[in-house]
Amino acid sequence: MEQQLKTIYEAQQIYTKIRENEKKAQLAPKMMREMDGAVESLRDRATRGKAVVDELEKERRKKEKELETDKEKIKKFESKLYEVKTNKEYQALLKEIESAKKTNDTVEEEVLILMDKVEGFKKDYESAVKELTIKESEAEAEKRKLEQELQSIDAVVTDLKKTRDTLLSIIDEELKTTYSTLIERRDGLAVVNVKNGVCLGCFMNIPPQLFIEVTRNKQVVLCPSCSRIFYFIDEE
Ligand SMILES: [Zn+2]
Repeated sequence: MEQQLKTIYEAQQIYTKIRENEKKAQLAPKMMREMDGAVESLRDRATRGKAVVDELEKERRKKEKELETDKEKIKKFESKLYEVKTNKEYQALLKEIESAKKTNDTVEEEVLILMDKVEGFKKDYESAVKELTIKESEAEAEKRKLEQELQSIDAVVTDLKKTRDTLLSIIDEELKTTYSTLIERRDGLAVVNVKNGVCLGCFMNIPPQLFIEVTRNKQVVLCPSCSRIFYFIDEE
């Protein structure tokens, strides 16, 4: 009986691997979509960052042009100073120059503020691009790895199923029926170990006398709580 229990425990382990592989294959498309989504949102951030920088640069260039025009205007006024005939005209011209200079100062300040802003947003944009580049290559590598795994998963699962079937073929009918029923009803886990008197399927304590029985692996013992088949391995 010990050989039977050991074999059915091995069959269980292989079945667990089959389930893991199948789950991976099932989840792969979702994982790939998530990776693509993460890259896309970073790309959006970078695109938005670029648009903000471009817009601010445009505004800065516009202001600088304004500044040039105003400076020309001031120069013109100043040259006129020598041409005016009356003091009244002279005073009026001085006022014009003063006000034009004031406007000029304001625009100059605005340009400086814009330059600061551009610098800040440029930094954001550059860090977004950097992050995007890293994420892109990470996602590419992960996807490639996943695709490779997926390509071999069918063959791996077929092999595992063959091994499991070979193992199960030497199991007594009665035990095999119990196993199959449990696989179906206990979420794919039919054979479990016991550690420190605790069933590793349902994590309930089992009576000490039963535990001793289980450690001998001499007969089929089912967990009193979850009905799973026990196979004892003394793992430290
Ligand atoms: Zn149990």
